[in-house]
Amino acid sequence: MNALLLHSAARERGGWGGTVSLAVPGVWSEDCLNHEPDGEVWLGVREPGTEVPARALVLRVALTAAGAPVVPARPHGEEILRAVHDPELVDHLARFWHDWVAAGFPAQYGRDRAVPYVFPTAGMLAGLPLRSPPAVHGRAGRFCYDTMTLVGPGSWAAIRGAVDAALTAADLVSSGERLAYALCRPPGHHVTRDAYGGSCYLNNAAVAAQALRAAGAGRVAVIDIDAHHGNGTQMIFYDRPDVWYGSLHVDPGAGWFPHYAGYASERGRGAGDGFNRNLPLAPGTGDDDWLAAVAALCGEARAAGPDAVVVSLGLDAAAADPESPLQVTEAGYHAAGRQVAALAPTVLIQEGGYDLASLGGFAVAAVTGAAAGAYG
Ligand SMILES: [Zn+2]
Repeated sequence: MNALLLHSAARERGGWGGTVSLAVPGVWSEDCLNHEPDGEVWLGVREPGTEVPARALVLRVALTAAGAPVVPARPHGEEILRAVHDPELVDHLARFWHDWVAAGFPAQYGRDRAVPYVFPTAGMLAGLPLRSPPAVHGRAGRFCYDTMTLVGPGSWAAIRGAVDAALTAADLVSSGERLAYALCRPPGHHVTRDAYGGSCYLNNAAVAAQALRAAGAGRVAVIDIDAHHGNGTQMIFYDRPDVWYGSLHVDPGAGWFPHYAGYASERGRGAGDGFNRNLPLAPGTGDDDWLAAVAALCGEARAAGPDAVVVSLGLDAAAADPESPLQVTEAGYHAAGRQVAALAPTVLIQEGGYDLASLGGFAVAAVTGAAAGAYG
C-alpha cells in the first residue's frame, strides 16, 4: 500500500470520532499481515483478489487515528479452537504449506500458492469414509470448498494471529470490558466445523463465542452484519441453543456467495431449532431496509437473553465495496453499531470490507456507534 492511501485512511474519520477519543480497545497481531494469498482463482481464472494485507493496515491506521488504544493479541492455546473446529482441520492448515513446498509445487511446478483441484463432496463419496489421500495435491481439497482461498508461506501465522486477536478481545470482555474490537485478518465467518473457504480459514467469531461461553456466559448471541451470510458460524452452532446466530446479508438466491446457505428457512436443528435467523436482502438494499433488518435481528437476539454478544463486523455492505451490491452508508454502520452493542457486553470481530479508500471511515463509524451503544 502506498503512503498516500495510508494518509487518506488516517483522515477517514468522517466526523464520527468528533473531539472525543474512541476508547474501545482494538486488539491486533502483526502476524495478520503475513498472509498474502496473492490472488484468488474465480471461475477458473486467477485474479488479484481483494482480501489483501493493506486492509488490515487501513483499519489499524483509521482506528488508531480515532483514538482507539491498541492491545497486542496474546498467544492462546488451542483448546477452544479445537472445540470449535475439527482438530484435523487445524492440523491440516498448520502444516499444509510445509507439505506443499516439500512436494516441490512452488520450485518445480510453478505453483506459488496452494489451490485445490479436487473436492471430496458428499455426492462423490456416496457414503464412503473420507480418507486423507497421500498425495499433497489430492489432499489440498480435503478441508476446502472453493478455489478462492489460497494458502501461502505466511498464511498459518496470520490465521493464528487472527484467532489470538479474537480470543484476546473475548478475554477483555469476559474480564469486565463492556466492548472490545478484534482486527482479525484473514476473516473467518465462512468456516464451518471442518471446511474452509470464502477467503476464511478458521472461524474467529465462533471461537470468540465459544470462549465467552467457557468464561461463564450462559448464552451468546452472534449478530453477523457482513454483506455475506456467515454460513460457517451458522453451521457450527446450528444444533445448539446456547449460541443464537442471526445474519442479514445479500440474498444468496439472488446469485451471491455462499450460494448454498443463508436462506430464511434455515432456523436451526434439533436442540438448536429456533436459534438461527437469516434475513436475506435484495441487491441494492440501502440504509432504511438494512437498518430495519438490523433492528429485527436485535429484537430477536434480545428475546434470546444473551449474556454476551459477538458481532461479525463485515464492512462490505458499504456502497463502494466491490464484493457486494448493498448500498449502506457510514451513518448506517454507525446506527447498526449502536444497536448491536447496546444488547450486552460485546466483542466486535472484523470480517469483510474491501474498498480500501473508504474502509477506514466505515470502521470508525461502526466502532464509534458501538461505543455509543455500549457506554451511552
Ligand atoms: Zn463479506
